[in-house]
Amino acid sequence: MMESIYNLDIDQLEEYFLSHNCKKFHADQLFSWLYQKRINSYNKVTNIKKDILDELAKDYSLKKLELVKVEKDVDVNKYLFKLYDSEYIEAVLMRHDYGNSICVSSQVGCNMGCKFCESGRRKKVRNLNTYEMVLQILQVEEDIKERISHVVVMGIGEPFDNYDNVIRFIKIINHPKGLQIGSRHITISTCGIIPKIEEFMNFNYQVNLAISLHAPNNELRDKLMPINKVYPLSELMQVLKKYLKKTNRRLTFEYILLDGINDQQQHAQELANLIKGMNAYVNLIPYNDTENLEFNRSKTIQIMKFYDILKKNKVNVTIRREFGSKISAACGQLRSKEESL
Ligand code: SAH
Repeated sequence: MMESIYNLDIDQLEEYFLSHNCKKFHADQLFSWLYQKRINSYNKVTNIKKDILDELAKDYSLKKLELVKVEKDVDVNKYLFKLYDSEYIEAVLMRHDYGNSICVSSQVGCNMGCKFCESGRRKKVRNLNTYEMVLQILQVEEDIKERISHVVVMGIGEPFDNYDNVIRFIKIINHPKGLQIGSRHITISTCGIIPKIEEFMNFNYQVNLAISLHAPNNELRDKLMPINKVYPLSELMQVLKKYLKKTNRRLTFEYILLDGINDQQQHAQELANLIKGMNAYVNLIPYNDTENLEFNRSKTIQIMKFYDILKKNKVNVTIRREFGSKISAACGQLRSKEESL
């Protein structure tokens, strides 16, 4: 199969042109054709010589993903794409007052096995290639005919289990001739793969990191998230403190509230103690009910109590605005519906 042109970051394109005895500034030019003018054929390019364009066309494909389904609601669209190997992935567009944000998937399936998560019901089949992430954005923008200003890598998959492709994806979407999405508007969410958090500290972009925490102590986190057995909470917190010191970036803790499991007042207090003094904020997530009967959404009153305790302890906290519970927009839900058809 021919490699996709949307796999290449600007450095790789520069190398390509240099190795074909061309000037490297063609890389910038080609980026604008791809990401700003959105060409669907190399014939449209007017400022690069025909013979090198013919070479490019032989080496790199401009093919898009197959968009198989879009569900639209008031402030959320959900996209189902079919990949070259007949696997499906999802992307979700959310409309905020500050702009359009997209939730991008990073793998087909996921190996992290979080007990409450729909995506994890299917083991990882493969990592997404960079182009398969880039095209989620490009094609959703084409569908809505508007720009997307914010990107969260919080769809199906564990981005830090697909580190190199995700980093290349960030470089492409952030580039001034690429999709021009500001690094402060990009958030990567991980369940806490420590070696990759360490690597990410040295990645020179001001990208936000979100940590799926979901439990304030080791014992409970072990039960909910198998990854905690490999990278336990105390070590995770240590590395995050180092991360904050080094990067000055924003850190978010995601915490899904599960009825009767991690939503008690003692958990809120424990959470406040755990993150005390850290420059971070907590995003409380009302659980999107799934077919998994073991877990239910916390009662609203419990969510409010949890929130109040964090506030009283001077924790920066928000409750996630909800999108798409009507159209199953929580991770993995559209895909799993499609596959059970
Ligand atoms: N693997 C990464 C990114 C994908 S999951 C991570 O763990 O962060 C993105 C977020 O959605 C995670 O915080 C995950 O725990 C959460 N999530 C999973 N299932 C959910 C559900 N049914 N309702 C609400 N949030 C859910």
